Amino acid sequence: MIDLRSDTVTKPSDAMRKAMANADVGDDVFGDDPTVNRLQERAAEIFEKEAALWVPTGCMGNEIAVKVHTKPGQEIVTEDRGHILNYELGAAALISGVTIRAIKSGDGSGHLTWDEIKPSLKIDPPYYQAATALICLENTHNFAGGSVMNADACTEVCEKAHALGLPVHMDGARIFNASVALDESVAELTRNCASVMVTLSKGLGAPAGSILLGTKDFIKEAHIWRKRLGGGMRQVGILAAAGLIALEEGPKRLAEDHENAKRLAEGLAEIPGIKIDVEKVVTNIVIFDISGTGKPSAEIVGALGLLGVLAVGFGDQIRMVTHLDISIADIDSALDVINRAVLGDSSFEV
Ligand SMILES: *Cc1c(COP(=O)(O)O)cnc(C)c1O
Repeated sequence: MIDLRSDTVTKPSDAMRKAMANADVGDDVFGDDPTVNRLQERAAEIFEKEAALWVPTGCMGNEIAVKVHTKPGQEIVTEDRGHILNYELGAAALISGVTIRAIKSGDGSGHLTWDEIKPSLKIDPPYYQAATALICLENTHNFAGGSVMNADACTEVCEKAHALGLPVHMDGARIFNASVALDESVAELTRNCASVMVTLSKGLGAPAGSILLGTKDFIKEAHIWRKRLGGGMRQVGILAAAGLIALEEGPKRLAEDHENAKRLAEGLAEIPGIKIDVEKVVTNIVIFDISGTGKPSAEIVGALGLLGVLAVGFGDQIRMVTHLDISIADIDSALDVINRAVLGDSSFEV
């Protein structure tokens, strides 16, 4: 199987498995796990933030950030296709009691400029309106096709938000992909963000875990909410050991995933009925439009699956994600299979 559904399908390397087997562990609810502590310290150093907290999932990291930055009855701002709005099951409403105001990015990149955000903000509103408490950004932007936001663009939003007393949270699930694509460090890309969530279990290759970063005060509150949400774990150094390797070694090979995604996009652009803007594929996510094939995405995804290629379809679009278990040869085989699936030649044997 060539599994292009997501970079979450990556399996831990032999080095990770060895590190997990040999990890020095303790009870992390007592703060006693040396491997978790080391991972948190390293993450804080790399991001140049005061403190960091290991969390089991990216969703929990994002939702803890929303909780700590807001009060019930307030409002947060996200981009229209943002993860926090669309793929976290209404958790911000459930856990934090906030509403979400969605803003469409004007250029389709998924990244909001200050001019796009500003008209939606309610700072010190009349008593009958919900006040804005938080702006959420996402880099790379998942459902805008792995698009990147550079450090200057992020700094502008953060500085203007801070001038109004508003914190900015960065959903940086794939911030290392952005860092590699832009050649700017993750510290630069999140310099002025009040909090950052980064996922270790996607392209970086760990089996589980994300990191939440911010000030010492923010992390102190986040620690309490992690426990309340059932995320206080015990000998979790077993996972943090893999997380440390993901953090130190994972970013070094992401450029390869980006090259493979570009190669995939170039090949897709040649297939009749498929529409894709190759220029816009700058990280490891490839989203393409199949409306020109006359077939629904479910039918194409189903045919691909029978031919050994896994992808995710939604509406007229299909998403494919490259990762460390995908080689150049896999990309070329996948393109061959996609060609046949689109042309309807299901006699092809894998
Ligand atoms: C995957 C993802 C998350 C959530 O991470 P999980 O570990 O799957 O909970 C959050 N934001 C973005 C942009 C993501 O792609």
